[in-house]
Amino acid sequence: MSAETRSGTAWPVIHKDLGALAVEPHLADYDAERAVFRWEDARSALSGLPGGGLNIAHEAVDRHAAGPLATHEALRFVRGDGGVTSLTYADLAAQVNRFANLLRSLGVGPGERVFSLLGRRPELYAAVLGTLKAGSVFCPLFSAFGPDPVRQRLGLGGGRVLVTTRSLYRKKVAALRGDLPELRHVLLVDADGAPEPDTLDFSELMRAASSHAEAARTLPSDYALLHFTSGTTGTPKGALHVHEAVVAHWATGRFALDLHPDDVYWCTADPGWVTGTSYGIIAPLVHGVTTIVDEEELDVDRWYRILAEQRVNVWYTAPTALRMHMKAGAERASGHDLSALRFVASVGEPLNPEVVLWGQEALGLPIHDNWWQTETGGIMISNYAAMDIRPGSMGKPLPGVEATILERGADDRPVLRDGQAVPVSEPGGVGELALRPGWPSMFRGYLHEEERYQRCFAGGWYLSGDLATRDADGYFWFVGRGDDVIKSSGHLIGPFEVESALMEHPAVAEAGVIGVPDPVAGEMVKAFVELRASHEPTDETRLDIIGFARRRLGAAVAPREVAFVPALPHTRSGKVLRRLLKARELGLPEGDLSTLEVRP
Ligand code: ATP
Ligand code: MG
Repeated sequence: MSAETRSGTAWPVIHKDLGALAVEPHLADYDAERAVFRWEDARSALSGLPGGGLNIAHEAVDRHAAGPLATHEALRFVRGDGGVTSLTYADLAAQVNRFANLLRSLGVGPGERVFSLLGRRPELYAAVLGTLKAGSVFCPLFSAFGPDPVRQRLGLGGGRVLVTTRSLYRKKVAALRGDLPELRHVLLVDADGAPEPDTLDFSELMRAASSHAEAARTLPSDYALLHFTSGTTGTPKGALHVHEAVVAHWATGRFALDLHPDDVYWCTADPGWVTGTSYGIIAPLVHGVTTIVDEEELDVDRWYRILAEQRVNVWYTAPTALRMHMKAGAERASGHDLSALRFVASVGEPLNPEVVLWGQEALGLPIHDNWWQTETGGIMISNYAAMDIRPGSMGKPLPGVEATILERGADDRPVLRDGQAVPVSEPGGVGELALRPGWPSMFRGYLHEEERYQRCFAGGWYLSGDLATRDADGYFWFVGRGDDVIKSSGHLIGPFEVESALMEHPAVAEAGVIGVPDPVAGEMVKAFVELRASHEPTDETRLDIIGFARRRLGAAVAPREVAFVPALPHTRSGKVLRRLLKARELGLPEGDLSTLEVRP
């Protein structure tokens, strides 16, 4: 059997053989589980605070540290030199307690914001979970941010505390202190007894703090996390999340990531991005598994080594990283024993069918696409372990999640009938992907932007801003971000289908597609292409790619122009920044580039 993508290419469906999976999947019978699952079930799998209330740190660390998992490895840090340091759940609990006490000793109260500007190092985990335990609100920043984005976010979020390193402080924060009157305490994790002026020594304060602490009696509805969105479509928004989100982290860790006790799990997301917290810290710890923390940046060969040497069972990464592995060639995977790995999960961007097929061939593994957003706080649509994969599809809504495709009117808002939004009636019809509000990790506001928050809801649904379709069997397919979709000669063209078709050409490593104004068609499709190392940017290659795309997509949808670029612009969370390609193409202001990744 094969599934037709919107571009007409028939990709083979990847069938899952339940008997051959190494462990029994948690979601073997999707329809049965969906019919009975209630968020209450997930809630009752957690322990809650003794005496009432709910606190993420208690669920992620304390209840394990007080039970049989106390001596189980919680975090395993892999350094650049390959050396390894481990923290058990009991070790982690002690660090978390020290940080919670440290905050209390500084007079930082519940609800006040603690920021980090830090790579993946042990202090980060103590800071995130210690903040939550103390009832304060945590906000991670990308350590690669320049001074402006740091000042902007710390200012907006009214950060009281910042945890960072000496060099990051010197380069990015020291000169801004005068602009940030609310920032009372800066803690340097590498102060080594000699902090900079106006900063404190993290380690010294941690040593002085007690390793026993009571969790703040937080309610499920109390704020826990502040996450800025990736800024792919504009200025990043500050999404506020509550302690109750942990219920969704538990459920999605079970259904989408299929975490089992004794699993070794690795999430490569940067800690500055929502995935780095929800799935780099909370979900795996809540499940009591061992999480690998790679302290370095992406490196194809080292990543294969980590997967093999650490016997990783579940690997959560992003399409751009997978495309880099693909670009490097399948032979780089050979010689590494990946036999422990059950599947690879991906998030953040559309996962091209080409990449899924490559995973089957080069790694011998299914790659599971997952769709969610900073606003949703956790995975919403997923290719869970026992599900057949239709390459190019995001999968199906997880139990507890109700998703639909809504018709959009001329104003790009949902069409309402009797106050209710109208779903697209035909399978395969394009509309806005929407979710029924009420899942536990749903954001509860955009910081200081109540009106913008309200606009995310209409006719009984949360509006994602993404366009998608659903096929007759209930699989969801991504078409594009509302802002990126191209309207050409009456066709609605999603950049994803064009980019995926381009990636089928042997010369193309990665592609970014935009619409540029055209007097006749309204917009015409233009592609920016990064070539594989083995191909030259010649006119012949260009014509060959254009001809190939025409045959695949038809002349109306295929790019009229192809430009070669040495590298596509990405956000730090790994998304192609199409709005920047467009602004440069049209000579318009480049807009907010705070999250633009600068690759060396
Ligand atoms: P901003 O909202 O600031 O423009 P952003 O939407 O990129 O930035 P995130 O919340 O990090 O910020 O990303 C969520 C978005 O990423 C989704 O709305 C969607 O457009 C895209 N995305 C995430 N996962 C997938 C996926 N599996 N397939 C396609 N797109 C995805
Ligand atoms: Mg968004």
